[in-house]
Amino acid sequence: MTMRIVQSIDELRNALLPFRAAQIGFAPTMGFLHQGHQTLFRRAADENSIAVASVFVNPTQFNDPADLEKYPRDPYGDTVRAREAGIGILWMPEPRHMYAPDHTTTVSVARLTHGLCGATRPGHFDGVATVVTKLLNAVQPTRAYFGQKDFQQLAVIRRLVRDLDMPVQIVGVPTVREPDGLAMSSRNVHLSTSERQSALALSRALFAAARSWEQGERNVDRLVSDVTATVTAEPDLRIDYINAVDPDDLHDLAGLTLGHGRGVVMALAVFCGKTRLIDNLRLDAPNA
Ligand code: AMP
Repeated sequence: MTMRIVQSIDELRNALLPFRAAQIGFAPTMGFLHQGHQTLFRRAADENSIAVASVFVNPTQFNDPADLEKYPRDPYGDTVRAREAGIGILWMPEPRHMYAPDHTTTVSVARLTHGLCGATRPGHFDGVATVVTKLLNAVQPTRAYFGQKDFQQLAVIRRLVRDLDMPVQIVGVPTVREPDGLAMSSRNVHLSTSERQSALALSRALFAAARSWEQGERNVDRLVSDVTATVTAEPDLRIDYINAVDPDDLHDLAGLTLGHGRGVVMALAVFCGKTRLIDNLRLDAPNA
């Protein structure tokens, strides 16, 4: 099947008309596609009759204009990688296709967005929740695919879809990593050689925490302080947050010793030079 590239919502809807009775898989992205995105695309293609991907660097979720300005873009490479991963319709809108000049509606998910990335990126999750609602409304997919790498984002989207009765199944896809453990991210391109070396401490610390958990460590503060020590030992790294949280409602588990059957996600955000990286691992089921 040849891949169609569309820009406006009308073009997208027309391209989707022949598929309305079929199963539609959708993976939204901000582009500069890598194998993590392509894993979402392949799942969407394998599990549905047609796979749609969007590439849209959504200005409203950037709280820092400089971060938006330097966000990496490669529209041509993205078309190649989307086609290669089985996408049937690639939707590449511009901001003018997505937002009327006088747009005034915001989707805001309370509570789940207060901690972790929400604490240091004010407005970020309002931007995410609003654009994801708009993207889902335009595509109206059967299933939508999101990475567990953006674990808080996935939880926020699951909650908004449930709360707003949106008829779509949200599928969480495990984090795809480089062979040395670094979680794939479009932002990794900004890392210098030495920063990239330091950045390996993030996954190393998370994997060590999973091993401690496996060996029976259930004291959350000890788990967090071991991860913190590993990250702090590296040059170039500055911690934004390191928290152990409940997998479902994201509340901070600090101070607790966890009982049997209790799940936990170790989540972190760390500045590596000027680049902010995030990673997380579910300790009670590290491959989930
Ligand atoms: P982004 O383009 O960074 O906004 O990401 C678009 C989608 O791809 C989101 O659902 C991300 O969670 C997902 N994603 C990004 N990086 C990875 C990765 N390394 N593994 C799995 N999914 C990812």
